[in-house]
Amino acid sequence: MQIKPILISISLLISCVSWAQKPAIDIIKTKNGILQIQPILHSSLVLTYNNKTIYVDPYGGAKLYKGINAPDIILITDIHGDHLDQKTLDSIDTSKAIFILPEEVAHKLPKKYGSEIVILQNRQGVHRLGFFITAIPMYNLPEEPSSKHPKGRGNGYLLTIDNKQVYISGDTEDVQEMRKLQNIDIAFVCMNLPYTMDINQAADAVLEFQPKIVYPFHYRGQDGFSDTEAFKKLVNTKNKNIEVRLRNWYPSN
Ligand code: ZN
Repeated sequence: MQIKPILISISLLISCVSWAQKPAIDIIKTKNGILQIQPILHSSLVLTYNNKTIYVDPYGGAKLYKGINAPDIILITDIHGDHLDQKTLDSIDTSKAIFILPEEVAHKLPKKYGSEIVILQNRQGVHRLGFFITAIPMYNLPEEPSSKHPKGRGNGYLLTIDNKQVYISGDTEDVQEMRKLQNIDIAFVCMNLPYTMDINQAADAVLEFQPKIVYPFHYRGQDGFSDTEAFKKLVNTKNKNIEVRLRNWYPSN
């Protein structure tokens, strides 16, 4: 007879916990304004600056983007479903969005979306709405056409937002192009096996390019979540000046 109230209170508790775990918006002061960072899910985040909203790899359903302004820019990194998620694109307002994406993503994207499609090859850059966005190679090692992420197909991105440099890794291993980055203020770095790299590779690369702030993201692998606490320890044992920001990128868990 007591089962029902107990079930209700358990589900209440679960919903409170998952609400509590929803990551807050991070605020970064730039020279002329405020950059807001909102982790969403796995590979997806939202950046807001100067009343412009950038969605990165919108994924996981419209509910996750509720209350967030419609995107002015959508960046897509690769063709896989956790990056190019048509169901989510169909359920959010993309009417004014400029899509910036790799060529292979453009081929898979129905023509109906957005106000403009900008295709970037690796290393190409584009100015839009006050931002400069450059495509950074992302790929698996060793380089093979049969790999999960062959070089040249997908794009990581480097964004210049006011005086800040923001790097989004895409799905990659600790490739030279990442290791050689300079003056990165904020980096979003993937770490999940067998798709990208393990925490040791990620930490080693981060220690080399030394972003001021690093967010581990895209850390759900085949065998569960990568140990981001251990990643933080690996980084900070060798360099205390890199701020490792652990956020919950899987809020429904
Ligand atoms: Zn992925």
